[in-house]
Amino acid sequence: MSDSAAPVQRVGIIGGGQLALMLAQSVESLGVTCTVLDPNEHCCARAASEQIVGDYDDPEALKQLAACSDVVTYEFENVPAAAGEVIKPLKPIHPNPDALGYAQDRHIERSMFKDLGIAIPEYRAIDDVESLESALEELGTPAILKARSLGYDGKGQVLINDASKAADAFATIGSVPAILDQFVEFERELSIVATRSIEGDIAYYPTSANVHRGGILRVSKAPARDVNEHLIEQAQHAARQILNRFEYVGTIAVEFFQIGTGTDATLVANEIAPRVHNTGHWTIEGAKTSQFENHMRAVMGMQLGSADPIGHSAMVNIIGDEPRAGALESMPEAHVHMYGKSPRAGRKIGHVTLNAPSADELDALLERFTRVIG
Ligand code: AMP
Repeated sequence: MSDSAAPVQRVGIIGGGQLALMLAQSVESLGVTCTVLDPNEHCCARAASEQIVGDYDDPEALKQLAACSDVVTYEFENVPAAAGEVIKPLKPIHPNPDALGYAQDRHIERSMFKDLGIAIPEYRAIDDVESLESALEELGTPAILKARSLGYDGKGQVLINDASKAADAFATIGSVPAILDQFVEFERELSIVATRSIEGDIAYYPTSANVHRGGILRVSKAPARDVNEHLIEQAQHAARQILNRFEYVGTIAVEFFQIGTGTDATLVANEIAPRVHNTGHWTIEGAKTSQFENHMRAVMGMQLGSADPIGHSAMVNIIGDEPRAGALESMPEAHVHMYGKSPRAGRKIGHVTLNAPSADELDALLERFTRVIG
């Protein structure tokens, strides 16, 4: 379908956080109107959308969303499966809600990676302290215990350095079903963001190199430096396998650990996000078509735009506190996105993208940004 032939569409989005905000903003110029469903009447996506105030699993609110939308999507993976069941008979919903189930449970997600031939860290499923103790014996320490569900930004996880502390570790994550990951001595963390259209075309963004601290993403740089053809193929292969497995329509991210360097470098997959992702925020200014616009183009049945990068980009999350007054304004090169959220420790309240013609110039700009912002 060419853009000029595309009818103006109405898109319903389950969830009204910053991802929904940027999804809605990405298609404002296409004349698309968005309605978000969110229980918080001050949700940030309100700035660019209509809102239905309601819970994600409220059948009446979901029906209302379907009624005022031509197609429905979501901004996060913890949407209850029942929500998809309410929408499906009424309006198309993309991506395939089945993909959500896989991303909601780390054990099921890892089993899927394995079935698709995607390399993963050594891990064991954990149900109780006994299974944790025997897994620690097999995998050794350090190891990371991660709740199977509802963990993000490093929540619901604990690093275990001492196998005799298994009971404490299990209690720390709330004594819930979990997986135990062998600690991966990675060189760096990489991710790939890709979008699949209804026709099955896939647009791959260049891989990003990501720095996490305390389990929270701090900085992503793209295209990642020193990525050889083999690593690109491994990352794209993983994304392609998952996208095709679910006949997925929309944007996905796959996060990896890179082990080794140079020609010995290889990737193991850690997790997927069946949605637009923080490691793809740089694409707003740093790619010909952003991950947000491509997601919306895909769910609306339009052709995808190019995922080619424009120069080199760095995305820096603003976490917890607002930057010092005037600091961001004093650096006009910084593309600032504040989400309208109130500051709180560990909360992502905005991000900044820096863009430069070369990787070296980007590093210099990032250094200056860090000095100015503190
Ligand atoms: P996750 O919630 O799985 O994305 O984990 C958050 C962060 O913890 C990752 O981005 C890594 O920095 C770190 N991490 C998670 N799993 C492992 C692992 N198996 N080995 C080493 N570091 C890990």
